[in-house]
Order: sequence, then structure tokens, then C-alpha cells
Amino acid sequence: MTEAQYYTRGFGLKPQIEGQLSEDYRSRIVDYLKAHDFTLRAGDLTFRLAAEFGFCYGVDRAVEYAYETRTRFPERNLFITGEIIHNPHVNQRLKDMGIRFLNGGAGADEWNRLGDRDVVILPAFGVTVDQMALLREKGCTLVDTTCGSVLNVWKNVERYARDGFTSLIHGKYSHEETRATASRTSLHPHGKYLVVRDLEETAQVARFIRTGGSGVDFLLHFAPACSRGFNPETDLVRVGLANQTTMLSSESLQVAEEIRRAILERYGEAALGEHFRSFDTICSATQDRQDAVVKLLQSGISLLLVIGGYNSSNTNHLAEIADQKVPTYHIEDAGCLLDTSSIRYKPAGGKETRLGWHWLPEGPTVIGITAGASTPNNRIGEVIERILEFRGQDIRHVPPE
Ligand code: SF4
Repeated sequence: MTEAQYYTRGFGLKPQIEGQLSEDYRSRIVDYLKAHDFTLRAGDLTFRLAAEFGFCYGVDRAVEYAYETRTRFPERNLFITGEIIHNPHVNQRLKDMGIRFLNGGAGADEWNRLGDRDVVILPAFGVTVDQMALLREKGCTLVDTTCGSVLNVWKNVERYARDGFTSLIHGKYSHEETRATASRTSLHPHGKYLVVRDLEETAQVARFIRTGGSGVDFLLHFAPACSRGFNPETDLVRVGLANQTTMLSSESLQVAEEIRRAILERYGEAALGEHFRSFDTICSATQDRQDAVVKLLQSGISLLLVIGGYNSSNTNHLAEIADQKVPTYHIEDAGCLLDTSSIRYKPAGGKETRLGWHWLPEGPTVIGITAGASTPNNRIGEVIERILEFRGQDIRHVPPE
């Protein structure tokens, strides 16, 4: 592949696309909130927006490069390997621009039909080693928007594999980013990985490290989440920790500590360095959004609306942080607010959406709002507008033009 076919820094077309990006994703209300201490008062309602919310630097960059790519190659077939980010509105907007989504993974028909005239965008999560190899083989022009924070995780996982450590990844094994990260271990002949989703699975791994057990039972549970040929007897002797960048940071720290303690018990303090490595790979944007929700919860809000795609990992975690403290509703957009009484939302930790009732209290109410790293500002603004309408507030005067 020639350098000319592989782009990682966009095309320098920001001035040409800025207007369109603003039209598609900007919100006047959110701009107002940012300029007024993240607070908006209207009648007996107060809205408090988290100080860190919405598009992160990685998403900003990926969306921008996708728009630039369309502008740079107006006549070429343009594809993306999957969702660019986990937000249905942004993905739909790209489809409207004629960008086609390659579903089904490398090897599916649509991948095999790709050719050297095609342009393929790689999303912020990155793609697997196999997908990349196929795209190179097809000679496609590639626009790689993989986030720098994800690349940082890859670097560490590759180092583990090189040094004979199994990568223990705290994440969801079906998530695009985790699949891409895990695949980096295959760059080294004996590289191995195991993905743990939560503390329960971590406890299973820690138990095996401490006392061994049935490898068959272990593999029955973890089969889809570990590398081919994984053997818990030999592949949990040297372990390096990593995370999907959007996990709950407190949980990732607990995962690392649980495994560290198990290894310490099994091999002793002196040998710890030979058997255990760890580094924090939660990205700063995820961490900032989680910290901002914790702060918002301390500011006297009556309820919290978390806005973002239902399959967005970091959005789900924002809802989980808040759920025990105040009534929390994870909604995809303003359409989920059916009226002042009913709301469609995804409960924290749940899989399906459900109907909730009496979500908006009568009288003075402080509504906390946050949004995941893949939620554009206009979706946040629309939620606020809808609530104002419910309360008979004229949006043209709130805030003043
Ligand atoms: S959440 Fe973090 S890792 Fe993911 S795209 Fe945003 S900045 Fe990058």
C-alpha cells in the first residue's frame, strides 16, 4: 500500500465542512448553558448540565474526518466498517451523505466486493488486525480515524504479547473497540487475551489463578471471550491488565487490584513483577465525564437525564454511576419524553428500554443533564426544549436571543 492511500490526519478541509458540522450538531441552548455556568433557569425549572459532556476529542475527530472524506472524494464509493460512533443520529447523517456501512465483519460478501476504487473510513474504535489486512489486500483507500487513546491501549497490549504476558482486558468482548484491541495480541506468535466483563468474571479468573480448577469449566464460560487455544493453566501465569477505554474507571481499578492480589498470593511479592503488569487505559474524556456526573449529583438535582445511544458503553456507565443516587433515565433523544408523565428509557444496567411514569415532578425541579461521548449537542438541546414546551415555556425567549 502506498502512503497516498492511507490517511490518518484528515485532508485539511475543516474550513469547508465547519458550516455543515455546525448545522448538523450545534445547539443554541447548549451554547447558552456553557456560557452561563452550565445552568439555565426557566419558570420553576432549573437545568444543570454536567461540566463535561457530549462529543469527546476522539469522536469530534472521527466525525470531522468522515465529513472531510466525503468532500475530498465526492465521486467515489465511500464506506465505513461499522458505526462510526454509537449514536444513531450521527450514523444516519453519514448514511444520508451516501456513506455505506459494511456490516457483517471481514469476510462477508460486502467486504469481499471492495476494490481499489473504494474509500473506507475506519471508526474511532479502530478495526481488527484481520479487517485491516483484508482492506489492505483489496487496495482500498483508507481513512483511519482510530482514536489516539485506543492506539495507546494497543501499544500496551502488543507489548504484553511481545513479553509473554496474556492481556486481561476489562471490557465487553463483543464491542468493536475490545475486539480490535484483543486482535492486536495476534501480531505476536504466542500472544493471548482474555476479556472480563465485570467483577464477577474477575473473581472467577482470580480464583483460577489462586487455586486452579477445571480448565474445561473455565473455558465453557469464557470461550467466546478468549484467544484461540487459550489454556488457563498456562495462560494465566503472566497477566497484563488493559481496559476498553469507556469502562467504569472505578470498576477497572477493582479488576486490576483483584488480579494483583490473586497473583501476589500465588507467586509472592518478590515475583510480582514477573507475573503481573497493569496500566490505566480509561481515556481522559471518559474519566472527565464520569467525574462531572459525580459532581452534578452533589449539586442538589432532583433527577438526571443521560442522553445517548443505548449501545454506547460510556453513556451506559454514566447512568450506572447516578442510578443509586437520584432517579436516572437513560434516553436516546427528545422523542423518549412522551409527556410530563411518561418516558421511554433504558434502566441503568438493563438491556431493554421500558416505560417509566411520573418522571417529571410538579413544582420547582432541578433537572440534571449529561450526555455520552457520542452524543451531539443538538440532541441535548432538543431534550431541554421539549421539557420547556411541556411546561408551557416559549423557547424563543428561553434563553433570550
Ligand atoms: S471515548 Fe475516549 S477512546 Fe473513545 S473516542 Fe472518545 S476520547 Fe477516544
